[in-house]
Amino acid sequence: MFNKIFKNLTLYIALFTLISLSNQSLYCQQAMIKYEGKKILDTPDREFDAIHYKINIKFNLPEKKVSGTTTIKLTPFHDDFNKMVLDAVNMKIENVIINNSIPSKFDYDSTKLTIYLDKNYSYDDTFNVSISYYTISPQKGMYFVNPDGKNPSLPVQIWTQGQADEARYWIPCFDEPCDKATTEIIAKVNGNFTTLSNGYLVEEKTNPDGTKTVHWIQDKPHPTYLITFVAGEFDVIKHKVDNIPLFYYIDKKNSDKAEFIFGRTPEMIKFFSGILNYTYPWDKYAEVILKNFVAGGMENTSATSFFDRIIVDKRTLQDFSPDMIVAHELFHQWFGDLVTCKNWAELYLNEGFASYSECLWLEHKSGKDEALYHLFEELKTYLSEAKTRWQRPIRYYRFKNPTFMFDRHSYQKGALVVNMLRFELGDRLFFKTLSRYLKDYQFQPVETENLIMTIEKVTGRNMKWFFDQWVDKPGHPVLDVNYNWNEESKELTLNVKQNPDTTKRVPVFKFSTLVELTTINSRKTEKISITKKEESFKFTLDSKPLMVRFDKWCNLIKEINFKKTEEELLYQLKNDDDVIGRLTALENLKEIKTDNVKTTLAFVIKNDAFWAVRKNAISLLKKFKGNDVVETLISATKDKNSKVRRTAINALGKFLNDEIISLLENIFKTDKSYYVQAEIISTLSRTEDPKYFRFFEEALNYNSYNDIIRYNALRAMEHLNDKRTISYAMEYIKSIYSTSLRLTAIRILRKYGKENPDIEDKLIEIVKEGYSPIFISTVNALVTIKSRKSIPVLKEILKKEELKDSLKRFIKRKLQSLESYYENNKNSQKR
Ligand SMILES: [Zn+2]
Repeated sequence: MFNKIFKNLTLYIALFTLISLSNQSLYCQQAMIKYEGKKILDTPDREFDAIHYKINIKFNLPEKKVSGTTTIKLTPFHDDFNKMVLDAVNMKIENVIINNSIPSKFDYDSTKLTIYLDKNYSYDDTFNVSISYYTISPQKGMYFVNPDGKNPSLPVQIWTQGQADEARYWIPCFDEPCDKATTEIIAKVNGNFTTLSNGYLVEEKTNPDGTKTVHWIQDKPHPTYLITFVAGEFDVIKHKVDNIPLFYYIDKKNSDKAEFIFGRTPEMIKFFSGILNYTYPWDKYAEVILKNFVAGGMENTSATSFFDRIIVDKRTLQDFSPDMIVAHELFHQWFGDLVTCKNWAELYLNEGFASYSECLWLEHKSGKDEALYHLFEELKTYLSEAKTRWQRPIRYYRFKNPTFMFDRHSYQKGALVVNMLRFELGDRLFFKTLSRYLKDYQFQPVETENLIMTIEKVTGRNMKWFFDQWVDKPGHPVLDVNYNWNEESKELTLNVKQNPDTTKRVPVFKFSTLVELTTINSRKTEKISITKKEESFKFTLDSKPLMVRFDKWCNLIKEINFKKTEEELLYQLKNDDDVIGRLTALENLKEIKTDNVKTTLAFVIKNDAFWAVRKNAISLLKKFKGNDVVETLISATKDKNSKVRRTAINALGKFLNDEIISLLENIFKTDKSYYVQAEIISTLSRTEDPKYFRFFEEALNYNSYNDIIRYNALRAMEHLNDKRTISYAMEYIKSIYSTSLRLTAIRILRKYGKENPDIEDKLIEIVKEGYSPIFISTVNALVTIKSRKSIPVLKEILKKEELKDSLKRFIKRKLQSLESYYENNKNSQKR
């Protein structure tokens, strides 16, 4: 699954609004849990082996109802098997039949279905259990978008999301990743729908009533959480790569963009199949874009689902490439789907590898710098969680709910550990290990020990220590590094000290790393191995070093304190061939404001080969003053990389004058990047000068990826406190616009809504639309403007059975607040 917030989008998106209210509250609980404690989620015993699931379903769309029969073929794991338990949430169980003929007794408590078999079955038996059931408006697992078709701005879609434990909301099953089975889905859907499921389509036939029945078979075993079913109106673009059929499913109005989004998939399949020396394992590969999808992407076996923010046009690609998420989900088809973590405690075996595939793809497609930069960003992302939230072992059995495992430890730290393993083993043995691991454990659940055993088989090395410290212990090396130079003996002593927080069980780490020493005449790189808390290493050089680099190429997960002089940092910034060295030099120059720094920054902005170095140099240069600074920034607005141009424009915001303003207005009309245009709006907006109202008003006419231009323009207008903004907010609150735009519109309406019946009616209209990503903000706005009319509306909504409990509690609280306001008002009037 891909749950990351895209960093370059967060400027424009106040909230990752796809996260549901209940997930938000879970997230908060998670932050308070300490990793120490009882092991509470061990891999369960399996009483039986599910061999095959045959899922026969049909729908009643307006009722959000799915009904059908699931038949499980199974074999017991012991003799005297006369009772079995399945996961099944909030279903109405109609009957249970054994071997297609024998009705069976059962108990059901809304989460577990206990089936009493007709006799004692033995270890060697194989038999069928068929459960007929239905469920209405499932809270998870199966999602209905615009099921009654009443919202013209939304497509009608049915889709499922199984990870982590949601399959049980629409399939009675043994819903654990430790059990794999083949599956098939026979579904009756509207005649105009296109469907997608795992495996291959066996049959599609039209029924006399105009509906159609589709039959999909997945004949290679996979876990229940990867079962998918999608139905809706899609265009399907077909390709083939190495005889594997490839399908891009996209809503009809965006089908011209499919190639921009998924066009690199064939090359990715070839590339990953090649480096893994394991051909893509499934019958086909399909990628489908869904409306209101609950995650970024989900790697269902042979049929990945994506959220619709992935829809880009050609112009967007320079600022945001969908390649990371596309590669991530594709790599899961091997790591996650072919070999699957046995227990969510080892989620990194899925997510760490899939996240690392993003670096592999970048290295292949865009070169080493891009891959290193991505890895460096992953390191920062992990460290921020480690510093502000928690440090837990990556393998972690103490979660209350598998959702907790989808954090920066499983993803980012997991990826960084995979990268360190690559460094430790070397490329040849690393990829040989991956290949052997896939072949030895294909179609099986795995745990870390399987990987350790494979490494031993391939390389002869016992790597238990590596997984023990990086996977089973929390934290990472926190290092003090310094060196002494002895001019007489021409000897450099490098001192490395680890500062482990033993109260948190952080160990003294054992690791290898590269040290690079550069003098005026030479450059040498040496691999050193660190095993103790404090160690020193001696190197003989021809002269005093100009640059000492610890952990060249950034292979190590670490925090490091390595003080360097201004001269050393400037040398490193200009001369290090490792882009991370140049970026780190910039970070360490932050507080130094000398002329030398200023000149070097200007040089770097003009000359560095890597965009992020130029970009970060701009962020430092803007703290200096002078015409030369402004000139450098102006020339950077012509940089070939749009992210550099954006930063330059943002920096020019500090130096605005008539000349710069007219330059920005000009760039707004000509630049090919939506993000650059959006940046100009927010830069001008910071002046809070009402004279730009017209400019922002004009910008509202620009279409752009995810509405970022319109969004920035509306936000800019919001800050100008001009009542003319109301009419725009009334427009942009409509459901055809992006969530971020709608949220801005709500804020504006909330500001002007008191005693404005039009605004009150509009907000009520939105609330009546039902649960949407802006529902909560709209209710909050109604409470702010003391909307009396919304009281009966909210009461009516509260009656809906399908509402999540957390949402019910929220609405009740808001109702109380409104009612007590009017109660108090009444009382005060009486007095
Ligand atoms: Zn993933």
